[in-house]
Amino acid sequence: MQVSNDLGSNPLAAQACSAPSADAREQVLRRMALNYEAILQTASIGIAFTRELYFEHVNPRLEDMFGWPRGTLAGQLSQVVFPSKADFDELFSYTQPLLMQGLAVDFERELARRDGSLFRGHIRANSVDPLRPRESGVIWIVEDITEHHRSVQELQRVRDELEMRVRERTDALARANEHLLNEIAERRVAECRIRHLAHHDSLTGLPNRRLLEQRVGEALTQARQRGRGCAVVFLDLDRFKTINDSLGHGVGDGLLKAVARRLAEVVRPTDTVARVGGDEFVLLLADIAGADDAVHVAERVLERLSQPYRIERHSLRITPSIGIALSPRDGDEAETLLGHADAAMYHAKAQGRQCFQFFTENVLRSSSQRLQMENELHGAVLHGELRLHYQPRIELARGTLSATEALVRWQHPEKGLVSPGEFIPLAEETGLIHAIGDWVLREACRQQRLWRDRGLPVKPVAVNLSAQQFRSRDLHDSIRRILSDARLPAHLLELEITESTLMHNTGETLDTLQRLASSGVKISIDDFGTGYSSLAYLKRFPVDLLKIDRSFVRDIHTDPDDAAIVRAIIGLAKSLGLQVVAEGVETREQANFLNATGCDEVQGFLFGRPMPPEGVEQYIAGVCTMPV
Ligand code: C2E
Ligand code: MG
Ligand code: MG
Repeated sequence: MQVSNDLGSNPLAAQACSAPSADAREQVLRRMALNYEAILQTASIGIAFTRELYFEHVNPRLEDMFGWPRGTLAGQLSQVVFPSKADFDELFSYTQPLLMQGLAVDFERELARRDGSLFRGHIRANSVDPLRPRESGVIWIVEDITEHHRSVQELQRVRDELEMRVRERTDALARANEHLLNEIAERRVAECRIRHLAHHDSLTGLPNRRLLEQRVGEALTQARQRGRGCAVVFLDLDRFKTINDSLGHGVGDGLLKAVARRLAEVVRPTDTVARVGGDEFVLLLADIAGADDAVHVAERVLERLSQPYRIERHSLRITPSIGIALSPRDGDEAETLLGHADAAMYHAKAQGRQCFQFFTENVLRSSSQRLQMENELHGAVLHGELRLHYQPRIELARGTLSATEALVRWQHPEKGLVSPGEFIPLAEETGLIHAIGDWVLREACRQQRLWRDRGLPVKPVAVNLSAQQFRSRDLHDSIRRILSDARLPAHLLELEITESTLMHNTGETLDTLQRLASSGVKISIDDFGTGYSSLAYLKRFPVDLLKIDRSFVRDIHTDPDDAAIVRAIIGLAKSLGLQVVAEGVETREQANFLNATGCDEVQGFLFGRPMPPEGVEQYIAGVCTMPV
């Protein structure tokens, strides 16, 4: 049973055991055919058998897949399931050689339904007899993989999209990173710049006072260790302010830069050149054997800086005053050494400029005297120690008084009468000039009122205005107030402003002058010839009078250049319609020369020194005339 059962379930095995009858064989074959037919009918994949390119047998699944009603696809040329003849031909030329080699083909491609719509098919094919694939027939297994293909494509799209996003994100991160790195680099540069700015002067790029103090400290430590010394050389440019005020800050800045360059050439690379103030520079000679080394440097600085400069279109000359302090002799701390070199520089300036001065006991004494004077000057204003002296100004043609100039003095309790040259620069430095200037204006106007009240034929009084006063915002108002308090008409007050003050910031100057002139006050240019006047401005400024500086008048007879300058100034004043006064006239020859040249007025010891109010009264009263 077991065997027959086995045999019944396996016809081929049964064949092998005994020779079956024709009926039995036919039965077996029919059963096989039925079995295979059943497999074909129920298969969930499309199966076709083609011969000579025609469908000979197809299963229902294949017909459904291609949209052919049952029983209609068999007998059709297999080309009908391809989108075009070209597709079919291409497939044919691809599959035929493989099938002929007995190989199975396996591929995917677009297939066409009966209604022309397309779908994606996976095809596997095998020939029954590789030697004659067309004639023997080919078995095709077809699957509709449209959905699968779509999912794969979708998956691919999603993956591509994801990859793209990742790429984009990576790029964005890379960019952000680069941006961050740039920012860090920029911040480092900015920090460097800030650190540099904190330690350097922005105009010249030289170390500033802060860095200098640090370096002096370091140099002192090293010098101590080596048993050597160092020197601090403090230098200030003589009359730099005149250049800055007259030719403008552009030229001033250019000159400072040129000075900085020349100083750097004079010292060794291990030394330091610093700028510590407007026109103040300090050289630190870090390692010197003795005072002689500092002398050599100071001489080289004097020589090098005194050579002419070409700034913009100006040819300029400037000289330094130099103070030197040595370690350990004059101090072994940065602050002390710098202070002592500064004091020595002041001394050099007082000695007549363009020279150098070592720090000494004498320097110390005079610097503490200066400090004392500064303190006392505060008291001078408060305690009423200031006095006004008046110097007559004479009209040359008639020899009569044309005006007086009020010149301040300090009646010091111990020193006696101190001249303005000794305290006005200090007052300007400390800002006390505002209080002093205000007092002078009030006192001069009060005195005029007094003389007027006594019926004297008063002439205008000229009052000197310092640059700081001239630039103060309330100048115009305070002058009006002072005149009104003294009940004095404006034409009895004249203001003397130096040439260099006028040439500073010419736009604002013009404004101030116009306001002053409109109030009726007369304006004169003092010390004319010592600044760097621009003739164009002279013409525009509403000034009434030029005062030729006494340095030109002094040698008028011995120096042909001075005579020519005085003649030129008088000619210029005339052509601009200005009155001209010569200062410092001490001899009759000078007065005669000036008279012959057309000068209007003179002022000088020949006609009267500055004197207390009582002295000048006789001039005002007309008692004292000066025939020239
Ligand atoms: P300044 O305005 O040019 O005044 C003329 C100076 O020349 C006066 O010097 C006067 O004494 C002097 N002087 C006049 N005639 C002769 C002369 O024939 N020979 C010589 N060698 N000198 C003569 P002082 O009084 O010492 O004044 C000097 C400077 O001080 C003045 O020069 C002026 O710039 C300034 N100053 C005087 N008083 C004041 C003031 O109240 N305010 C301001 N800001 N400065 C003043
Ligand atoms: Mg004057
Ligand atoms: Mg003068």
